Amino acid sequence: MPSGSADFFTTRLDNLVAWARKNSLWPLPFGTACCAIEYMSIVSSHYDLARFGAEVVRFSPRQADLLIVAGTVVDKLAPVLRKIYDQMPEPKWVISMGVCASSGGFYRAYHVVQGIDEIVPVDVYVPGCPPTPEELMYGILSLQESIQSGRKSRDDRSARYAATLPALPSP
Ligand code: SF4
Repeated sequence: MPSGSADFFTTRLDNLVAWARKNSLWPLPFGTACCAIEYMSIVSSHYDLARFGAEVVRFSPRQADLLIVAGTVVDKLAPVLRKIYDQMPEPKWVISMGVCASSGGFYRAYHVVQGIDEIVPVDVYVPGCPPTPEELMYGILSLQESIQSGRKSRDDRSARYAATLPALPSP
C-alpha cells in the first residue's frame, strides 16, 4: 500500500459474527461408549483440533455451544441428554458421532434410543463404528461451513420432532 493510505476491508456484521462463531466452537463431549475414546484423539496433539478453533472442551453445558454425542444412549440416559441440551445457550449445535448415537447401531433393543434425533435436533451425523478421527474432523469442518454460510444445517425433521416431545421426566 502507498504510504499514507489506510488498510481496511469491508464486510457485513453477520458475516463477521459467523466467522467468529465458526472459529471458536466450545464442544461438550457427551461420551458414553467406545466412540468417546476416538473423540479424545482429535483433541490431542496428533490431530490437533486447535487448528480449527474447536479444542476448548467444556463439561458445563452453560459454557458450551457444540454438543458431541459419542456413544450409545440408553433410554435411562435420554432425559439427561435432553437436559444438557436445554441448558446450553443459543446458538448451539449437535453432532451425532457414530452409528450408535445416530441410529442405535447394532443395539436394536428395547432399552437403547434408536437415534438421538428422537431426543435432540441434530446438525451433523458422522457415520462409522467408530468414526475415524478424520471423519469426525470432517463433520466438524462441515458444521463450520454451515455456520459461516448462515445456512441452517439442523435437520428440520428432527428439530420438528424434538420440539413436539413432551417434557421428559427427571432422571
Ligand atoms: S458406534 Fe461403534 S464404536 Fe461407537 S459407541 Fe457404537 S459400538 Fe462403540
